[in-house]
Amino acid sequence: MRVTVLGTGTSFGVPMIGCECPVCMSTDPRNVRTRSSVHVEVHVELAFLVDTSIDLRQQSLERGIRRVDAVFFTHTHSDHVNGLDELRSFNWLQGGPVILFSRRDILDDIAMRFDHCFHPPQEGAGVPFIQLQPVEEGKPFDFRGVEVTPLPVKHGILDILGWRFDRFAYITDASHIPEASMEMLQGVEVLIVNALRRAPHPTHMNLEQALSVVDRIGPRQAFFTHICHEMEHTETNATLPPTAQLAHDGLVIEI
Ligand SMILES: [Zn+2]
Ligand SMILES: [Zn+2]
Ligand SMILES: [Zn+2]
Repeated sequence: MRVTVLGTGTSFGVPMIGCECPVCMSTDPRNVRTRSSVHVEVHVELAFLVDTSIDLRQQSLERGIRRVDAVFFTHTHSDHVNGLDELRSFNWLQGGPVILFSRRDILDDIAMRFDHCFHPPQEGAGVPFIQLQPVEEGKPFDFRGVEVTPLPVKHGILDILGWRFDRFAYITDASHIPEASMEMLQGVEVLIVNALRRAPHPTHMNLEQALSVVDRIGPRQAFFTHICHEMEHTETNATLPPTAQLAHDGLVIEI
C-alpha cells in the first residue's frame, strides 16, 4: 500500500491569502499546505482518496495521480468535498464510475450539494459519474480485498468519520476520538491524525492532544495533518519524536 499525502492544510490552506507571517512567507515547500486529503494506491488496479479536497485538481497534477476507484468521505465541510467535480478526470481515464463511501447522512448531504451530478442540466454537461455506497460506522467491510473500517470521531459537536484501511488509519478534523474508535485503531502500523496548532481549539485537536492519541495507539510511524500557519515544518518537527512528525504535501509512505 502506497499512501501519498496530497494536502496537509487547514481549511484556509497555507499560505493564507494576505498573511505575511514567517510560515506563510516561507520558501520551504514543506510549509505550503493545500487542503487535507490522501491518495492510497493498493496496487496498479486499485486506488482511492480520502475526501475530495478543494485543491484536488492541483494535487493530482503535482503528484501524478492517475487512478481513483473510490472516495471515502470524512464529513462535508467545504475543504473536504469541494474538489468532487474533478473526479470526472478519473471517470475519463478509467472509463467507469467512482464509488463514494460514507455514512448515509454524509452521502445525502453530498448528493444535495452536488445535485448536478445526478440531474445534469443539459445534454453534454460534463458532470462526474459517481455512485453512492452508504456504510455503517464502526462496522468493518471488505473493499476489493482491503479491510475498511469507518471510525466514529467527534469534530466539535459534529459526528464525523475517520477511516482505517488494513494497517493504515487516517483521521482528520477530530477534536475527540471516542474509546470504541480507539479500540478499533489498535494494531495500526501507520497513523495520520490531525493537529491544528499548539494552542487548544474547540473543533480540532491541538498538537498535544494528537500526541497523546499517538502514544495510546502506538503505531510504528505517525504523521500530523490539517495544520494551520502557526507551526513551521522544520522547527516543529525538531521538537517531536522521529516516530511522530508533521506530514507535508507530497509525502509518500509505503506500508
Ligand atoms: Zn477540514
Ligand atoms: Zn500566516
Ligand atoms: Zn471540518
